[in-house]
Amino acid sequence: MNTAETNTALKGTYCNSLTEYSRFLTREVSIGNIPVGGKNPIRIQSMTTTDTMDTIATVEQTIRMVDAGCEYVRITAPSIKEALNLAEIKKELKYRGYDVPLIADIHFTPNAAEAAARIVEKVRINPGNYADKKRFDQLEYTPAEYEAELGRIYQKFAPLVKVCKEYGTAMRIGTNHGSLSDRIMSYYGDTPRGMVESAMEFIRMCESLSYYNLVISMKASNPQVMVQAYRLLVETMQKEGMNYPLHLGVTEAGDGEDGRIKSSVGIGTLLEDGLGDTIRVSLTEDPELEAPVAIALAKRYEERPPLSVGPDISLPAGFSPYSYQKRESAELNTFIGGHQVPRVVLDISYSNLRDPQVLSAAGYEYSALLDKYNMAEQSVDFVYLADELPSFTMPGNLKQAYNYPTWLKLANKKNCHPVFTLHEYKEAGEKDLSLNLVTIANDDLQSGLFSEDLIDHTLVLVLETSKAHGMADQRQFFLSLMNAGVNVPVIIRRGYSDGSESDFQLYAATDAGALLIDGFGDGIWLDAPHISPKAVVSTAFGILQATRSRISKTEYISCPSCGRTLFDLQETTQMIRSRTSHLKGVKIGIMGCIVNGPGEMADADYGYVGTGPGKITLYRGKQVVKKAVNTENALDELIEIIKEDGNWREVDS
Ligand code: SF4
Repeated sequence: MNTAETNTALKGTYCNSLTEYSRFLTREVSIGNIPVGGKNPIRIQSMTTTDTMDTIATVEQTIRMVDAGCEYVRITAPSIKEALNLAEIKKELKYRGYDVPLIADIHFTPNAAEAAARIVEKVRINPGNYADKKRFDQLEYTPAEYEAELGRIYQKFAPLVKVCKEYGTAMRIGTNHGSLSDRIMSYYGDTPRGMVESAMEFIRMCESLSYYNLVISMKASNPQVMVQAYRLLVETMQKEGMNYPLHLGVTEAGDGEDGRIKSSVGIGTLLEDGLGDTIRVSLTEDPELEAPVAIALAKRYEERPPLSVGPDISLPAGFSPYSYQKRESAELNTFIGGHQVPRVVLDISYSNLRDPQVLSAAGYEYSALLDKYNMAEQSVDFVYLADELPSFTMPGNLKQAYNYPTWLKLANKKNCHPVFTLHEYKEAGEKDLSLNLVTIANDDLQSGLFSEDLIDHTLVLVLETSKAHGMADQRQFFLSLMNAGVNVPVIIRRGYSDGSESDFQLYAATDAGALLIDGFGDGIWLDAPHISPKAVVSTAFGILQATRSRISKTEYISCPSCGRTLFDLQETTQMIRSRTSHLKGVKIGIMGCIVNGPGEMADADYGYVGTGPGKITLYRGKQVVKKAVNTENALDELIEIIKEDGNWREVDS
């Protein structure tokens, strides 16, 4: 399909519809025997972590990844020797009965890219560093200098495009937020617009050579930046008559629950709007553990019906899907709404309400000896008890929510607030003087059941949904409120009744994260009676952390590792975590190599970066503070730097 043909099929801004699930139709691109884009399923991929020169280790890891569900496997090719060894890897894979398309990952080295493009099915280049041995240090570019720079890049890039055309090799133009060229930085800064332009420069060069076998990515470790960049990319492509497939990923997402939640917030938000043709979940774990997460994220959309959640909706004045702004809401009692952090609600109605220890899952540790509660960093703000009454005294600062009829009968209503249905609220005689929670669905708003005369300075809405396309349903509610100028605080409530704990994390992070990332929501309430309350709370706080709407823990921006990695990333991340996990709000980058690590640490406050075997370089922001520290001392030295900055505190005993 040529670009002129693609034009007629495209409409909308960054997605087909905000209210109806519909996949954004991209052009089909062949990657070996597995095409991506068009009407093909969302493809799953990952990247090896072995040394590319270790053929057998790379082949065996590739096989484990394919067996786990990877449809493409990416392998780093830092220099020509690794690029050439891809032929050996391919041969051995074929011998063992595996025909998986391989992707060479290239940074800095056109000769490696050109060699690899003759061997594998796809090459990935980073437009921020293709053809540049070192970062530019020029901060100002005149238009003429900018053009001259592009001309220089074209000379280096065109030969690769010609090889790809000749061999039928696909290419990913993979922008990373952390490694934009200084040329782009000088014009756009490290913004979503800069990321898009970084790719567009290379796309335009490809098109000028009549080469269209492209896949595009816009990765960042901050899901907010990543989502905005992909949206802007789609909008920009449409304006220029392009519809290349999208490869989705959050870089340096970390490991365990944090990595899964961060990835789901970024990838899931885009999938909800029908964007994304292939996904890679980057975890600081063995790569075969990434595919199941990616598969779980993608499978929700295989059979999602194209049902509309309501009439199409226009974006409110002042709201942009390409930048973050929190929805303005009224602040009630210096507790919820306004500039308050989003509040967390936990349902404990089905727990043993005779034992105060039940609150430890909610972040309140009860000491029987002292008869008092100690709060953790992740202490919920509200517990919901429905119609159950606890037989112990609640912590003084923990609000309790009861169903309205039960609340009415409470002898002592201090710290206790009613939860109404909309009908109950309309009919209620007695209400709480400070805070009333009212459950509501988008349909209630669209049908006019909720009217503005119900609003007063005590009202907080609890937004529920039962729709298959629930995120869009809830988003329509928020957009409608904004269009009507209604600023009532709203808590996002979502329920999950089955599935594994891991699926719960991924889906809750997608559903609530996609709203919070656009600034919607003054609170989060996740119902999952089949999951431990501790995991529910941890997931809720994890979503708030990943969307940067409430910081409750240290953030680790750790790379997934690859053939360049100079130390054991998983072990090192755990070691650093074991001594710094109490530093709420501090962001620590843990990067396997000095070549790409510093660029990809994005907005980390501190960096721990492999420089050579047994050597670590420590960073404060983007500044090198200590070079080539022995690995044995590196963590102690990092802690010293954190102490010098006044950001250290001892662990609470
Ligand atoms: S930072 Fe270096 S070691 Fe880590 S994944 Fe990127 S290239 Fe590989």
